[in-house]
Amino acid sequence: MSEQAVLYVVATPIGNLGDMVPRAVEVLQSVDLIAAEDTRHSKRLMQHFDITTTMVAYHDHSGSAAVAGLIGKMLAGKSLALISDAGTPLVSDPGYRLVDAALTAGLKVVPIPGASAAVAALSAAGLPSDRFIFEGFLAAKQQARIKQLQSVREEARTLIFYEAPHRLLACLEDMKSVLGADRPVVLARELTKAFETIRRAALGELVDWVAADSNQQRGECVLLVSGYSGGGELDIEARRVFELLNDELSLKQAASLAAKITGVKKNLLYQYGLEQKGRD
Ligand code: SAM
Repeated sequence: MSEQAVLYVVATPIGNLGDMVPRAVEVLQSVDLIAAEDTRHSKRLMQHFDITTTMVAYHDHSGSAAVAGLIGKMLAGKSLALISDAGTPLVSDPGYRLVDAALTAGLKVVPIPGASAAVAALSAAGLPSDRFIFEGFLAAKQQARIKQLQSVREEARTLIFYEAPHRLLACLEDMKSVLGADRPVVLARELTKAFETIRRAALGELVDWVAADSNQQRGECVLLVSGYSGGGELDIEARRVFELLNDELSLKQAASLAAKITGVKKNLLYQYGLEQKGRD
């Protein structure tokens, strides 16, 4: 092998073509081949920036023969750029298998950073951003989605989710029932585009707002949820189980048993029981 070929992982805009970084254009113009998630989709971007480099389709369903073919080309000295339909490849997008294979083959992998919806949303959400977790897309089926939400219920870091517009309302409703109506949440929709909307509210309020305006259920969106701050956020199911048990048992026993059934911390349920008692 002469000079070592490089795999460039190139971010592209998430809506506004003005966000294409100059280095991305230079790299895409100069590499031997572009591996694109969808070559037809990326044609517009190529035309806009006068990029005439040959494109081949690459997605995570491409078989291992396709990965091996691209690695073979790079080992033969050809440079390759990987792009997805929008944003940063590998972030809920294809590329992981190719990057993994390139590194395994001893090839150099170089990122060309640019837009990513998750980070763009976080930068404007006004939620704690020193630590956060990116959860990608939640499951499409409600039961699995609720389980996933329960597993992050007491996560203290800001949570970032991608969601499809047709599932947005159902997802928000599940978030409300699992995380509580008071949890602060941000809907970042159509970022960098004409109808960009960033709305911060309590979950209960956001559910009503989205339900009342079908325009909010269109386009692309990111949901950011403030991390768990302890107390006062018992979900409906935990409250229901606790209250049923509390009618029959002592507060301590009810909190202990409800904690085992729901997975919610015993202290939280006990505290809730005390607050309820205070109100009676
Ligand atoms: N790789 C991309 C990135 O770096 O953001 C994400 C690809 S993923 C298949 C597509 C999802 O990203 C959408 O369903 C949406 O949740 C989010 N997304 C992409 N563009 C967006 C935009 N302009 N505004 C809000 N969300 C966006």
